[in-house]
Amino acid sequence: MKKVAIVGAGPAGIEAASVLAAHDFEVSLFEKSSAPLSNILDKAYLFPDFSPALDLAKKLSAKLLNDHIQVFNNKEIIDIKESDNEFKLYDRESKTHIADYVLITTGYTLFDARRKEELGYGIYKGVITSLDMEQMLMHSQITNSMGEPPQKVVFLQCVGSRDEKSGNNYCSKVCCVTAVKQAIEVRKHLPDAEIYIYYMDLRMWGQGFEEMYREAQEVYNIRFIRGRISEASATFDGKIQIKSEDTLIGQPLKMTTDLMVLMAGMEPSQGTKTLAENCGIAGKYNFIETAGPHLEDNKTAVKGIFVAGSAKRPMSIRDSITDAIAAAHTIIQQ
Ligand code: SF4
Repeated sequence: MKKVAIVGAGPAGIEAASVLAAHDFEVSLFEKSSAPLSNILDKAYLFPDFSPALDLAKKLSAKLLNDHIQVFNNKEIIDIKESDNEFKLYDRESKTHIADYVLITTGYTLFDARRKEELGYGIYKGVITSLDMEQMLMHSQITNSMGEPPQKVVFLQCVGSRDEKSGNNYCSKVCCVTAVKQAIEVRKHLPDAEIYIYYMDLRMWGQGFEEMYREAQEVYNIRFIRGRISEASATFDGKIQIKSEDTLIGQPLKMTTDLMVLMAGMEPSQGTKTLAENCGIAGKYNFIETAGPHLEDNKTAVKGIFVAGSAKRPMSIRDSITDAIAAAHTIIQQ
């Protein structure tokens, strides 16, 4: 029986493990944190259908109940070496694990919004990130810096993405639709609040996304402003004053809001960066580079090491799962 080591127990890692186990591979699934699926369990609801993230996490977790899958939590793989037609995976405790193939599904981390100091995250209480907003939605408690329901909420797109200053020129793909999803959820909690989304371009590229965007305007009265916020500061009464330009009409704009939500983009996780570098498969921006953009998109330059999901570029959960299925079948065909 061939052995596959999968590094990273997110949706891509679990889906690939399930497909490979069904094809009689022996799967070892390594997760550096104490439990799988942390990047799903930190969300309240998923786009585009507003289904509870917990439901998907339960369905994915059920796939791990398979005799051919062994899950190792708290096991961080930091290096992979090939010798004698097998791979040796080294964990942080210097223990070695053996496999015939390796699939890297180490995923992403969110851009640290504190790096955009001018936007005030970590300085002003009224500035939060999309992840903080997910926590508020999860607990049905959307509050401003005074702990009260906000009367005005502003979402700001492209924080740490499409931004030369941050060193990330790429689009993170999921934050436009996440902002629209969160804005609709906020509206359901706060029927009378003013809700704005500041955007550079709206990239509603997935099935059902354009419909959400339309609904956000027509049903939920979310207002969209094309512009980029250049600066945020706190007012004496705990509100956030923002300076921007409406780039459609070419006018500077000032607005005061109770809550500003920064849509932080995706960066390679530390695990992705470590393995990309140590295995010599780092691509642009330290995501893992694939062997080719079309037929070899799950292979890497190292024969026998494969990659799936957002370890190679920003990707939605849906696309990560689909990509994992493709990666598993690429391994099956070896
Ligand atoms: S998905 Fe939208 S918010 Fe995210 S980086 Fe791309 S354009 Fe910006």
